[in-house]
Amino acid sequence: MNKRDYYEVLGVSKNASQDEIKSAFRKLAKKYHPDVSKEPDAEAKFKEAQEAYAVLSDDEKRRQYDQFGHAAFEGGAGAGGFGGFDFSDFDYGDIFDNIFGSFGGGFSSRSSSNRARRGSDTLMHMKLSFEEAVFGCKKDITVDTTEECSECHGKGGFGESSCDKCHGSGTITSEQHTIFGSFLSKTTCPKCGGVGKTYERTCNHCHGNGTVKVKKEIEIKVPAGVDTGTRLKLSGKGSSGSNGGPNGDLYIEFSVAEHEFFVRDENDIYIEAPITIAEAVLGCKKEIPTLYGNVTLTIPAGSESGEKHRIKGKGINNEATKRKGDMYIVLKIVTPKKLTKEQKKLLEELNQTNLNDDNDIKNFERFVRQND
Ligand SMILES: [Zn+2]
Ligand SMILES: [Zn+2]
Repeated sequence: MNKRDYYEVLGVSKNASQDEIKSAFRKLAKKYHPDVSKEPDAEAKFKEAQEAYAVLSDDEKRRQYDQFGHAAFEGGAGAGGFGGFDFSDFDYGDIFDNIFGSFGGGFSSRSSSNRARRGSDTLMHMKLSFEEAVFGCKKDITVDTTEECSECHGKGGFGESSCDKCHGSGTITSEQHTIFGSFLSKTTCPKCGGVGKTYERTCNHCHGNGTVKVKKEIEIKVPAGVDTGTRLKLSGKGSSGSNGGPNGDLYIEFSVAEHEFFVRDENDIYIEAPITIAEAVLGCKKEIPTLYGNVTLTIPAGSESGEKHRIKGKGINNEATKRKGDMYIVLKIVTPKKLTKEQKKLLEELNQTNLNDDNDIKNFERFVRQND
């Protein structure tokens, strides 16, 4: 089934402000909320609007959507590894509080404080040396994680019995009278928080959650080829969820130190090789460092400053893109600044020979005469 464009769903323009998006969604939510709407396909329409709002109200997700369309939130999309996005986890809290809050009874379980909430996504910055980025490395990081409470073994309390308020169902059905008419509303049982059970004594260790948040050190693998600005996504390693909700995702953004000699251009590596005038004129063999050890480069006679020599496949072997870069050696003729008397004499003698026979030099001298 073809999904409708999110902007079209909300009926806003591509450059709509956050206020316009919020207000458009609020109107649709009022019209299609399944608890109040009489429209036949209200639920589908409502879900569609919810999803569009979840994406467009979040600057980062909106940017991904603008760039990749719906593919940005489908598993394994070519969107640089942004995985699926569970819209049902999105927190619409303040919107629904604003629309429906005045009616007292919460809608479904949305306004319940016991609702399972997904933890937020977090961004961590990590500095890498040039070599760590080029070859990949392993790093220890500290992440939030939830563990089952060891005291109550995940139950949240001691002395279990069925909840007498909801008779174990976890929800309470009540009739609401609003300007939209009367309707039945299901709310999460306030006594047991939707679990259907109560405990004589709440567990002090986890405060009844059944889980505890702990910091844990984990080892991550940084793939070869990351660069400054590259983000690595670690699913489920973001902030802890609450009330049994899943963790958010953790993004690690790298900044890579510069190397003293190697210069990087994506997967290609450049190095400047200084050579003497004599080496440039006569040609020579030079030892050149590469990422994979030294190589011997034959520099032909008559080389110029700035000339590039390519060694195929000796650049970065990028694990994420499966691309292999090349190595470029850029010649730089070093003009000597200090000369002995002897060297000076030799160079002057050299200049008396027909060094000036070169066409470039002759053409330039001709222009100098014409220009006079
Ligand atoms: Zn209950
Ligand atoms: Zn506990």
